[in-house]
Amino acid sequence: MKTHLLSIFLISSSFLTFAQEAGFRSLISRSKPGITDTIFTIRAKNNTAVQIPMTIVKGRDKGPTFTVMAGIHGMEYPPILSLLEFRKEIDPALLKGQVIIIPIVNQTSFYTRTPFVNPLDGVNLNRAFPGDPDGTITEVMADFLTKEVFASTDVLLDMHGGDVGEDLIPFICYYDNKQFRNQTALASRLSEISGFETIVAYPYILSPDQPAMYAFKQAVRQGVTALSIEIGRLGNWRKEEVSLAKKSLFRLMAELNMYGTKSANNVSQVRARYNKQAYVSVPVQGIFVSEMAAGDRIVKGAEVGYITDVFGRKKLPVYAPESGIILYKIGTPPVNKGETLLCIGF
Ligand SMILES: [Zn+2]
Repeated sequence: MKTHLLSIFLISSSFLTFAQEAGFRSLISRSKPGITDTIFTIRAKNNTAVQIPMTIVKGRDKGPTFTVMAGIHGMEYPPILSLLEFRKEIDPALLKGQVIIIPIVNQTSFYTRTPFVNPLDGVNLNRAFPGDPDGTITEVMADFLTKEVFASTDVLLDMHGGDVGEDLIPFICYYDNKQFRNQTALASRLSEISGFETIVAYPYILSPDQPAMYAFKQAVRQGVTALSIEIGRLGNWRKEEVSLAKKSLFRLMAELNMYGTKSANNVSQVRARYNKQAYVSVPVQGIFVSEMAAGDRIVKGAEVGYITDVFGRKKLPVYAPESGIILYKIGTPPVNKGETLLCIGF
């Protein structure tokens, strides 16, 4: 196993896209079998820069390129920690193809403990796709991932969890995209054997002039087989969550014939599949009072909770629009108009 550090620093922002392209693609093609750690520096035209750590794990035999990334949201810890363990455990001698590990996409958010957005520009990276090479730093990061990373990827897993204000149950999800039927079928199959008990299939609705916004939706648009997971809640992490996320990576690689054997480990653990989702938006800023938690079953029309003003006076009850399971909800008191208060799977 050979490990070396390669840093690529860009001198002129006018060569940004070209230089990053040259850097990333040549790194992929030049890296030898084994493990290569890299730090990429991404720079916006206003000279703001960020560093993205990446590890290329390359096998001796040819095979698919599997990209796994976490930390698009820097306070979603179980996926980030799972990728650090995965990086230690994966043996390139047993690998066919290559794995690109991006353990912390948004290091600025991670180190400043900032939920959802990049504090450098206030932009949520998971709403910024496909990105913009001439935009703010987060938009440039999205552009880099779109044009370089996703374009070099066969299968993508974008890993998320419950950020500091989010309560959720663990699940794996994909888009039910009718345009790329093979990729959708593979995403469904990978979800089945991932080890997660809950699968969520989102409808894929995207007109040609609409930005994908989400990282894995952008990858789907580009014809990549793309999935996402959600694990961990309220900005916290537990060992079992880190372990489940890590094991899912080995299961996926086995199913892709990249690593190990499918064997008995790759049986479905699925207990629930939700092909439809209903969302409730926050109607007014206030304090959300609710006895319910993610994973609770709810009946259409039942009160989920209510929103009070700053004096605690009851303002507005919130009702469930459908019967089903609460997949995720805001888990801390403050709520702002227009935010997604909860999502019901059914
Ligand atoms: Zn996230």
